[in-house]
Amino acid sequence: MAEPAETTSETGPAVFTGNLAASPPLPPESVAAANRLMEAGRLFRYGEAGGAPSEAALLEEEFAALTGGRYCVAVNSCGCALFLALAAAGATRGDKVLLNAFTLAPAVGAIAHLGAEPVLVEVTPDLVIDIEDLTAKAEASGAKYLLLSYMRGHIPDMDRVMAACETAGITVIEDCAHATMATWDGKPIGRFGAAGCFSAQGYKHLNGGEGGLIVTEDADLAARAILMSGSYMLYAQHRARPEMETMARWRGTMPNFSMRMNDLAAAVLRPQLPLLAGRVERWREIHGRIAARLTQSNRIRLPAPDPRAYLAPTSLQFLLEEMDGPAIEAAVAAAAARGVAIKWFGAAEPVGFTSRPEHWGFLPPQPAPAATEAVLARLCDIRLPVGLTDAECDLIAGIVLDAVSENAPN
Ligand SMILES: *Cc1c(COP(=O)(O)O)cnc(C)c1O
Repeated sequence: MAEPAETTSETGPAVFTGNLAASPPLPPESVAAANRLMEAGRLFRYGEAGGAPSEAALLEEEFAALTGGRYCVAVNSCGCALFLALAAAGATRGDKVLLNAFTLAPAVGAIAHLGAEPVLVEVTPDLVIDIEDLTAKAEASGAKYLLLSYMRGHIPDMDRVMAACETAGITVIEDCAHATMATWDGKPIGRFGAAGCFSAQGYKHLNGGEGGLIVTEDADLAARAILMSGSYMLYAQHRARPEMETMARWRGTMPNFSMRMNDLAAAVLRPQLPLLAGRVERWREIHGRIAARLTQSNRIRLPAPDPRAYLAPTSLQFLLEEMDGPAIEAAVAAAAARGVAIKWFGAAEPVGFTSRPEHWGFLPPQPAPAATEAVLARLCDIRLPVGLTDAECDLIAGIVLDAVSENAPN
């Protein structure tokens, strides 16, 4: 971080003075690309008269290469990417869509947007989908779609999830908003289901302000998503698209939902792609360093990732054991007083980006996912800006350890 973030006052314990909500500045190449586009007045991805490839078309090509996917469609947000991917995969009004109950509100929103019915599936204390419950809910509901949300980047046993879905005839759409660059057994996350959806919202791995990317191997799904994203009859300007015969098969039958990516967002995103792998490595070090220190407390339980998963964390989660709501609130307040913002998923009202099923008053009636609610009642979350130094990581870990030990009952 740019400013000195550590101060040790003579009268009290050390305070973290950095900003956990900060995003790093964009690379100079992003700023230059944005300026070029603004000077040219060309902020829309399609040109009626053709011309040079748009930034969005190039981003799609480059993101497809990065993830090893065949087709890629850039849109205005990951929430819209999820909606379009579900729609392009054939999900429609009234369909039931399975969704793990630990997720961000836009995932459940994408299903509601479609007029479909979310069917909530439990997560385990390791924050991944509970595969037994997935199988049971699939059977009970007859759902043929799963929106698999890697909330906060946690990856389930993909071999078992995909096998269970194949047996039940379920089409999987992956919500990779927190899992960009993550892999399972060497295969990129986002390439397991019919489509993978990524976010370029400023708080994720890539900062386009807003933005979403759909990656798929399915030519028909890609064609439908391109047309529904609002390509008009200018879809030939896409580069990571299916053959024109496939496009022609669907043109004229797909509604235009106007969910295109702004070319300015694409311009600032492209120079970030080559930096991603290095950033994820640093994020992993930051996460690992803090997590290793937190294991000193017997009140803190860290999710145990499967060794086959290569995670790309941008935040850190832990469960507080044997602490009730008021004790957790006191620990959160003690950390906040020393500059460390801990988000608690158990709060009565949603705060910031946290929410949980009981806050989604639009859901169709269904039994509350009790196991997930019990996990979320203990779940804490800390955002990790990629610019944290090792000293800052140690300070943050120390503050969390103090806050917990001071407020845990003996
Ligand atoms: C951020 C996020 C989304 C939505 O992404 P947007 O680009 O903000 O629409 C969906 N799912 C998860 C898990 C997220 O974290």
